[in-house]
Amino acid sequence: MQRSSRRDFLKAMASAALVPLPAFAQGGGGRVIVVGGGFAGATCARAIKKLDQRLSVTLVEATQTFTACPFSNNVIAGLRDLKEQQFGYDKLAADGVELVFMVASGIDPQGRSVTLTNGARMPYDRLVLAPGVDMRWDALPGYNAAASERIPHAWKAGAQTLLLRRQLEAMDDGGLVIISAPPNPFRCPPGPYERASLIAHYLKTKKPKSKLIVLDAKDAFSKQRLFQNAWKELYPDLLEWISLSAGGKVTAVEPDSNTLVTDFGRHKAAVANVIPPQKAGRIAELAGVTDRTGWCPVDPMTFESKQQPNVHIIGDAAIMGGMPKSAFSANAQAKVCAAAITAILRGQVPEEPRLINTCYSLVAPGYGISIAGVYRPKDGQLADVEGAGGVSVLDAPRATRALEADFANGWFNTITAEVFG
Ligand SMILES: Cc1cc2nc3c(=O)[nH]c(=O)nc-3n(C[C@H](O)[C@H](O)[C@H](O)COP(=O)(O)OP(=O)(O)OC[C@H]3O[C@@H](n4cnc5c(N)ncnc54)[C@H](O)[C@@H]3O)c2cc1C
Repeated sequence: MQRSSRRDFLKAMASAALVPLPAFAQGGGGRVIVVGGGFAGATCARAIKKLDQRLSVTLVEATQTFTACPFSNNVIAGLRDLKEQQFGYDKLAADGVELVFMVASGIDPQGRSVTLTNGARMPYDRLVLAPGVDMRWDALPGYNAAASERIPHAWKAGAQTLLLRRQLEAMDDGGLVIISAPPNPFRCPPGPYERASLIAHYLKTKKPKSKLIVLDAKDAFSKQRLFQNAWKELYPDLLEWISLSAGGKVTAVEPDSNTLVTDFGRHKAAVANVIPPQKAGRIAELAGVTDRTGWCPVDPMTFESKQQPNVHIIGDAAIMGGMPKSAFSANAQAKVCAAAITAILRGQVPEEPRLINTCYSLVAPGYGISIAGVYRPKDGQLADVEGAGGVSVLDAPRATRALEADFANGWFNTITAEVFG
């Protein structure tokens, strides 16, 4: 990040700490249900309970163990154990959040209730949907849920992460690995390029005759110059990026032969990783809060749906203007949403927030780069605060890259401790 923008960023961080907390009113209470206990939902449920003990807060989450995506690229590259990605919900229960481990299968926004897969109906005053993303199985001919058991997306951490890891381990030295990167918007904009980097590191150190190609549906990507400079330095003959204009967009997948098809040719991989186009988690569609894009438009002051009253959407599922879909963003949005909901339930008006995002990426062990931004509501969206934020300096020494890798580790430990610890 350039010096002046670093200063602006720190200034904005100070103001972000001033995200308005509603003054406590007498009496009242209310029932809040949060669906989805990832970075957004778990943060929000906990924050609401901390802001007002009198509110009843229930978290509906499909699984008892959350598996985090950030740092899952390290698992794929053999640098980390999947267990280090996994977290439970005991501390949320200790804070007074009621836990229901079940899939929410329906929402009745008019009757204000959530239906669970066992048929139970739970009433709410305010509902928070934080279901993350689902894959668009209809967007890429040949690539559906069954095909992903053969060609993993590994864009939800867990079994898919391990499948891709095992395929890389089983591949002969000299094999061709292909990653297909999706069009915008999608979960974690720098994620495919961090993945390419760390897989390249694995190949360079363990299978040096191999090659990696990234087929991209875009002509530009997050932290592009930083990534490409690092690739030139670290993986010059190993990693090739093929942009949309150069014929990189994958138009079909043939899972039986591990082949990715573009308008310009057919690429047969030893190991393929298709990251398909995405949309908001299915429950958002069922609640009627998605628009034609498949994502959820929200009021950036409160994260309340623009389509259904009393329903708030946070995290990857929401349309957040300039704010990227990241765990850092999800956590920040969750805190603002929690403050807004407690204010609304007390009859108060939420104040205008500032939100921050920072995304670290590892290009190799001990080699980190980052991008940061500050956002505020503007014209019904979250817009960049100009002059705040920035990216890592292009020609920084290795010591700076090592420091950023440490910051990345520190960030992961801090956010997971705050959300689940
Ligand atoms: C490879 C990779 C690397 C990444 N690296 C970073 C990084 O370095 N930094 C960063 O900030 N972000 C990173 N991200 C992005 C980050 O993982 C997401 O932005 C973040 O997880 C979004 O949080 P969320 O709460 O919206 O969704 P999630 O964290 O996916 O949580 C959604 C939860 O909702 C639950 N759920 C869904 N539907 C239902 C239902 N109907 N009923 C009950 N429960 C339901 C799911 O089980 C899940 O637990 C990365 C992502 C990937 C794929």
